[in-house]
Amino acid sequence: MGNIRVLSDVVASQVAAGEVVERPASVIKELMENSLDAGAKSLEIEVRGAGSVLLRVTDDGAGMDREDALLSLERHATSKIASAADLTTVRSMGFRGEALPSIASVAEFVLRTRRASAPAPAGTEVVVKGGKIVAVREAGCAPGTTVEVKSLFFNIPARRKFLRSAATEAAHLDRAVETVALAFPGVALHYRRDGRTVHRLPSATSLVSRVADLYGADERAALLEMPEGESRGIRVSGLVSRPGATRADRGRQFFFVNGRAVENVFLSTGLREAYRQMLEPGRYPSLFVHIAMDPQAVDCNVHPAKREVRFRQGGEVRDALRSAVEAALRQARADWLQPVRAHLAARAEPPAGHVPEAKPLRLAHQPELPRPVRPESPPAPGAPIAEAATPRVRPEEFRLVGALSRRYLLLEGGEGLVLLDQRAAHQRILFERLQRGVAGGGVAAQRLLAPAVFELPGREHEAVAENLAVLAAAGFGVEVFGGRALKVEALPDFLAGRDPQRVLEDFAAACVSGGAARLRGPAAEEAVRRAVARLAVDEGGAKDEREQRALVTQLLACELPYCDPDGRPVMLQFSWRELDRKFGRD
Ligand code: ADP
Ligand code: MG
Repeated sequence: MGNIRVLSDVVASQVAAGEVVERPASVIKELMENSLDAGAKSLEIEVRGAGSVLLRVTDDGAGMDREDALLSLERHATSKIASAADLTTVRSMGFRGEALPSIASVAEFVLRTRRASAPAPAGTEVVVKGGKIVAVREAGCAPGTTVEVKSLFFNIPARRKFLRSAATEAAHLDRAVETVALAFPGVALHYRRDGRTVHRLPSATSLVSRVADLYGADERAALLEMPEGESRGIRVSGLVSRPGATRADRGRQFFFVNGRAVENVFLSTGLREAYRQMLEPGRYPSLFVHIAMDPQAVDCNVHPAKREVRFRQGGEVRDALRSAVEAALRQARADWLQPVRAHLAARAEPPAGHVPEAKPLRLAHQPELPRPVRPESPPAPGAPIAEAATPRVRPEEFRLVGALSRRYLLLEGGEGLVLLDQRAAHQRILFERLQRGVAGGGVAAQRLLAPAVFELPGREHEAVAENLAVLAAAGFGVEVFGGRALKVEALPDFLAGRDPQRVLEDFAAACVSGGAARLRGPAAEEAVRRAVARLAVDEGGAKDEREQRALVTQLLACELPYCDPDGRPVMLQFSWRELDRKFGRD
């Protein structure tokens, strides 16, 4: 007799359970998804002992009759697809017909269910222990379904041992419930752990209000709504963090594709690209992103727990996500800066009939200041001024309060207090100026009275030698002068008067530590510009109000005024609400 035999159904289910039922949270996920597939509008979730004692989900969905209740426990029994072709258009959460038999094979399992149309008390109760049906009986119950899972993995001690601490398993359970809550804001949800309510969420009419119910008003206030947009049949909507309002973990990052929570490398790349330069290392934005697309363009059947998906056109999904997030970030900047811009523009004297926009100015130590406005100056006769272009100046919306220890500027904005880090602002301004310089030949070089010739050690010398073109575009006149030597004939105007050797040494050191020496192409150029921007920092800060104002004006003209080139925040905003709360005036 050979060695191959067909496994019994129970053993096969236990093997499948190894993949589907990784931990208590996977059970809750599968049960909740079944409820949603059954059209439930309200879920009750009860957990005890981090899920190894009890997991229970009760729904008000379609329910099952006796025959279906028994069938649902057979392997590969599903009401959701009929053929492999249906897989390409699947819109339900489940489709494999694996979850219930798998779960029932590794626990003490009770299914209580009643079709909405069935007359009371015509419900069915099926009791299963370790995959064997112990009892099937009529039971009185409300329309809908309850699945109760006790003593998970009681018959597989090895799996029980693999469970993590109660706290870890509880965190996974919480996450699973939050995921469903965010995927289906319209579904009411009551979640209890060890007898205590963790979340009681009413049916919400929008994702925003669901987020507020789930995480509180502060989280909600830190989020931006993405303007709804569609490109190539990919619709992206949802919420992302304001720049600066980030967290130390990815705990609040959720991507949903057609309602299914997923991970995918194209999604994480799109996100990273959108927040480029806005994130410090180790900081993560919150995001709740829904992507709706043709189910045929996404394969959900690539992961046992359906956590990952494969896109037919990953690049298109990435680009759609990136532009939606960027649009939200841009919009936020426009909203927030509007009063500030208006105020600054009003201080500039407009050419007759023309309302000025804040323009990038020169650097703070050579300020080109807008002259004060003459409020009585009338518009040029006959030249109509577009309503939209006329800044409505409300001075109470923005006020430069002053400097704090020469490091920070204090601004009063319409929404609250704004702290501005002068040094970070400076770096941002310079960085963008260098970017423009490279793109449009805009950074002026100042010739030294006499060229400086000196040597740099190996790696540092290389860092300079490899980036001569970028340096030239940034206003450096540098050439390699044989061996380890460099000859400097000019420095960018914003470094005028500095010791050229010190500047190049600092630059090379910043390149080496900032990784520019190992980078190539645009990434290297960006690292070089970052290194240069760091050099130019004027430690003393703006000397007087004129310079302070110039700094603010220049910053607000930047593409990304919120953060310095290394992703550190430039401005922090404290809303009146937040201040009131801190002072106990809420
Ligand atoms: P799948 O969800 O992949 O179809 P499951 O094993 O999770 O497989 O469920 C098997 C079947 O049992 C489902 O297709 C569905 O018809 C039925 N079912 C499971 N849970 C519920 C529920 N809460 N309400 C109504 N029907 C359910
Ligand atoms: Mg299922």
